[in-house]
Amino acid sequence: AGNWKMNTTPQEGVLLAKQIIDSFNDKSCELILIPPFTHLSTVGKEIVGTGIKLGAQNCHYEDSGAYTGEVSAAMLKDVGVEYVVIGHSERRQYFNESHELLARKTDAVLNSGMVVIFCCGETLEDRTSGEHFDVIWRQISDSLFHLNQEDFKNIVIAYEPVWAIGTGVTATDDQAQEMHEHIRKLLSDRYSNEVAEEVSILYGGSVKPENAEGLFGQEDIDGGLIGGASLKADSFVAIGESFK
Ligand code: PEP
Repeated sequence: AGNWKMNTTPQEGVLLAKQIIDSFNDKSCELILIPPFTHLSTVGKEIVGTGIKLGAQNCHYEDSGAYTGEVSAAMLKDVGVEYVVIGHSERRQYFNESHELLARKTDAVLNSGMVVIFCCGETLEDRTSGEHFDVIWRQISDSLFHLNQEDFKNIVIAYEPVWAIGTGVTATDDQAQEMHEHIRKLLSDRYSNEVAEEVSILYGGSVKPENAEGLFGQEDIDGGLIGGASLKADSFVAIGESFK
């Protein structure tokens, strides 16, 4: 899944989508493009019939109303969005999104019939103080554990250590695998082995073509949420195709 963040003009976004479509050959891997809101319709039209899916970076928890500047899950669904990123660390950090707010947004996405890509991740401080496992538990339990087992068919989790996002520093294969295994254990303790095994857990944080294969080769890593490297068609496609 490629999170374009607040990058590209609408025209550049369509061009990028075209380049990705042209160079993407490995149809066994699922690609999701997550452009800014302003490009959803045009990028969505570009990818029709290619198997590539459309995602959005955020949404509001209400369907409509007096929330100037916001976009609802229902609106996203209507333009062909299938996945919505909830709880990206940049939204937690710069927009003070709380666990409770993220729970409400999660409900809105599920109620609109889309899939949530729920991001969690610890800061460097959390990791150096040894609190990283607890931080991830708190993020997941406070925003997702009100859901029922059935809801988890429409949840994807993205583990994104904050210290690895946009920094060029990637978690080692072992660090990422260890946390993904921990997340599966949280799900199996709260729900069942079935939920734990069926949920896709993506890794995000400075994934590039050079480190993708090692990360994706780990048992509990099911794919990636890619920021910077998703803005170049060749690197994004190479990352996708390194997932075997
Ligand atoms: C992200 O923002 O989700 C991300 C993983 O960014 P980057 O790949 O640039 O670290």
